[in-house]
Amino acid sequence: MFLGLSRKSVLVTAASNGIGRAIAEEFASEGARVAICSRNKENLLKTTDEIKSKFGVDVLWCVCDLSKRKDIENTIAAVEKEFNGIDILVNNCGGPIRGNFIDVQDSDWQNAFNQMFLSAVTATKLVTPKMIEKEWGRIINITSISVKQPIDNLILSNAIRTGLVGLTKSLSNELGKYNITVNNVAPGYTLTNRVYEIAVNKAKELNISHEQVLTDIAREIPLNRLASPKEIAALVVFLASMKASYITGTTIQVDGGYIKGV
Ligand code: NAD
Repeated sequence: MFLGLSRKSVLVTAASNGIGRAIAEEFASEGARVAICSRNKENLLKTTDEIKSKFGVDVLWCVCDLSKRKDIENTIAAVEKEFNGIDILVNNCGGPIRGNFIDVQDSDWQNAFNQMFLSAVTATKLVTPKMIEKEWGRIINITSISVKQPIDNLILSNAIRTGLVGLTKSLSNELGKYNITVNNVAPGYTLTNRVYEIAVNKAKELNISHEQVLTDIAREIPLNRLASPKEIAALVVFLASMKASYITGTTIQVDGGYIKGV
């Protein structure tokens, strides 16, 4: 399928590992100019080298803590300078701490809001002027199945990510006239470090193996397995492509059928 992504400029945030990294790789495989950011320079350099040698493309990297506005400003400025604007922005971020309403503190709410919501608002605000100028753009937020079906013991994701759904729909209304689409991709259980760590911690609590925890999760999923990060990336790249020119304002889950509702 011709996706028309060659030479498009892409920024994927929080992309040294996991889903973000898989998204960056998928864009690189389509010949896009890719920029990635995350907090740790060593991890970024390692990921950049690996993507370069796998796909033979240059990758721009920026150290950026998404909970700091200044870091986001510096990152976007550097990428726009190098690429003459950003055509596609993928707002990914680290996940929030686990816990129920009675567990989490005021500071946890604030940190989660900064990390999951405000980072996407800031990055989007900064890239849209150039997209409007070019009359073309794609903004894709990585959220979670929690926006369609709350996940037990994950109140911060359940509550704060849902705000991104409202933001996306509103933005799609506002930016449609400039040929900018705005969508959310909602991953289900995906095999990344985050899920591995969650499984290891839960295994300790329950005194079972982490393999057993992962098998128990898979049993709840109609496709009977967790996703690979590449399977989430496939939808992101499609939504960014020419083929998805009439899709905006949506939130699409990639969950192996996990969400129970219609
Ligand atoms: P991960 O922990 O494997 O990777 C997260 C990436 O974010 C890493 O590169 C990390 O360095 C970076 N990061 C974390 N905090 C950051 C910050 N403040 N600034 C910049 N970079 C930062 O996570 P993942 O599993 O790939 O998940 C990505 C996102 O998708 C998370 O928000 C997660 O909650 C969400 N999600 C994941 C799953 C899943 O099953 N893996 C399911 C639903 C939603």
